[in-house]
Amino acid sequence: MPSEIQSILDRTQQYLPTADLARIEAAYQFAKAAHAGQLRFSGKPYITHPVAATEHLLTLQPDEDTIIACLLHDVIEDTESDVVEIEKKFGKQVAKLAAGMEKLGKVRFQGQDRQVENLRKMFVSMATDLRVIFIKLADRLHNMETLDAVRPDKQKRIAKETLEVYAPIAARLGIYEFKTKLEDLAFLYLYPEDYARVRSELAGSEKSRGQFVRGAVTELQAILTTAKIQAEVVGRTKHYYSIWKKMQKKGFGSVDEIYDLFALRVLTETNAECYTTLGEIHNRFTPLNKRFKDYIAVPKINGYQSLHTTVIGLDKVGNQPTEIQIRTHAMHAEAELGAAAHWQYAEKKQAVKVDQQKLQWVKNLVELGSQLKDSDGFMEQLSTDVLSDRIFVLTPGGRVLDLPAGATPMDFAYTVHTEVGHTAVGAKVNGKIAPLDSTLQNGEVVEILTKRENTPNRFWLSFVKTDSAKTKIKAYFNALDHEENIAAGKELLNKQLTRLGKPKLTTDYGVLRHYKKGDLGKREREQLIERIGNGSIAVATVVRDLFALEEIATPTSPRQKPAATLIREPKTGDVTIAEEPGLPYQLAKCCKPKTGDSIAALVIARKGAIIHKTDCKNLARANPKRRLPAAWGDTTATNRLVKIIVGGHNRIGFLRDITAAIAKQEINIADINLRTSDKHEILHELTVEVTELRQLDQLLDKLERVEGVNRVERIR
Ligand code: MN
Repeated sequence: MPSEIQSILDRTQQYLPTADLARIEAAYQFAKAAHAGQLRFSGKPYITHPVAATEHLLTLQPDEDTIIACLLHDVIEDTESDVVEIEKKFGKQVAKLAAGMEKLGKVRFQGQDRQVENLRKMFVSMATDLRVIFIKLADRLHNMETLDAVRPDKQKRIAKETLEVYAPIAARLGIYEFKTKLEDLAFLYLYPEDYARVRSELAGSEKSRGQFVRGAVTELQAILTTAKIQAEVVGRTKHYYSIWKKMQKKGFGSVDEIYDLFALRVLTETNAECYTTLGEIHNRFTPLNKRFKDYIAVPKINGYQSLHTTVIGLDKVGNQPTEIQIRTHAMHAEAELGAAAHWQYAEKKQAVKVDQQKLQWVKNLVELGSQLKDSDGFMEQLSTDVLSDRIFVLTPGGRVLDLPAGATPMDFAYTVHTEVGHTAVGAKVNGKIAPLDSTLQNGEVVEILTKRENTPNRFWLSFVKTDSAKTKIKAYFNALDHEENIAAGKELLNKQLTRLGKPKLTTDYGVLRHYKKGDLGKREREQLIERIGNGSIAVATVVRDLFALEEIATPTSPRQKPAATLIREPKTGDVTIAEEPGLPYQLAKCCKPKTGDSIAALVIARKGAIIHKTDCKNLARANPKRRLPAAWGDTTATNRLVKIIVGGHNRIGFLRDITAAIAKQEINIADINLRTSDKHEILHELTVEVTELRQLDQLLDKLERVEGVNRVERIR
């Protein structure tokens, strides 16, 4: 038996004693035959690649089918017959996984479009079976390890993609073991000089660092033994890429400037021991206040749990702060293996030494997959458990953007560039025009259409999901002239106040003090006016929240009969359809129902509800399925009388146009008086019945638009 497969079989048996090793070996032989004669760029036989990828995969302790699919992952070339044969030999599950891998495509980076298509498929498949992603990550890891055999220009492209796509996916799945390796390898090919520098500087201080780490581990271990806490203490240097990134971020010129080059890690059995350990450490060494994080009580979004603290006094040589992470073995396994570890520990309360149940996550996943295939539940399970609340979308150029779930093309636009956001006029999603407020899905390709002269719209604030988009839109409006906005706000508000018969704004804007039942200071009142001026809040909304209808209207008394005769066809009262008030409706022209008549609603496509008398012939002829019960609402109780004045230069038909505008709003006129002003204008004093302030507001709007009208106000 060849040794390269023997190692895989041995490792499998260690955590999976029930595995059918003959089946795994058969897969190896099958792959070896299929790849016979093929060579890697390195000159080695091709079979070395799937074997090495499977070795990486075994860190995640996958199930038998996933191991087999990984060995076979490059067997399927272009023919359907390969899939059929694999299914015949290894079963449906393996064939599905192998086909999933094939669908992702052997990413060859021939032009941007191909890459986009591959990535898109990848993300789509990610939502259907996570095991395909695990294989893909193991595959990529080995490809990165053998990248030196590839042409230099290809190296850069592959490394870049690894850094931008694969490492973030590994991180998102919480597989830090893969993430750090992928990042360091990509770092080596993308920034070879920086990589070499970080490495040599680390090597330079390795001896003293090693001494310190050993000393610190011993000291911590002794402290824990005294406290009778059974725990494992390990010291670990951070990986190159994260060190380099930190140097870039802080503007450091040398590795030595970073004090937390390594972390000490304490692994305990129970949660409680984590806190006891923390207590023991804080008791002896001084913690840096701001560096303490309790991710056990409040886990990170991807589920990461640990206590982080940084203390002074442990480093006796350099007297530098020392970072310590404290967590249970279970939390540690999850931190390293992420999604792969998630289920295996969820099943078993006691953390360590799991054998059979280590596979629980795969079983659960497969079960979930078959039970809930293509249903929303499975997607939900994945998105809450693993992908948390993020989506990946692509630019047409193949850039991958990580956005919160529910993000819109507008969020996408602002993530690409502020200017793209500001000038966005539309979007294309997967090549089709889509609204800027539509919801993006995982894997979609998004293109933003811009117009240079376009400026942001305040409406955008109502639907964008990312804080950065919100901040950028707000910043745009804040940059508009402050004084200008206040002046505009005052003018708008004064006009509205006058209209409602209220005094104009005083210099201290006192009328706004109790806005929304609050107690606003002068500055807050001014800010409200500024918001009216810059349009972030509608003046009508403010006024509606400022006054109750009761303040400007008097209730109708039963003795005060409405003078309804002035309007030829009054639509008195609301109709309640199927016990639902407020639905739009029209009165039927055939039977002309009046208040008090027995009525029913008929739902007509594109017209909505038409109210008929119940004895109407047309209603009787109609499809009974389209008929809904209807009733007149109780109209007299909430009606209130408001006196308004509508003035302007008299003309033929002036009164008719004014009363028609009122009738169109379905508002009743209770009284009407005409007089002439000293400026030879005609003033219509009208008493109208309204049920809510919004209705009055809309009426005043309409009246202002009647030809010849130059004054519309509520009078006391
Ligand atoms: Mn491969």
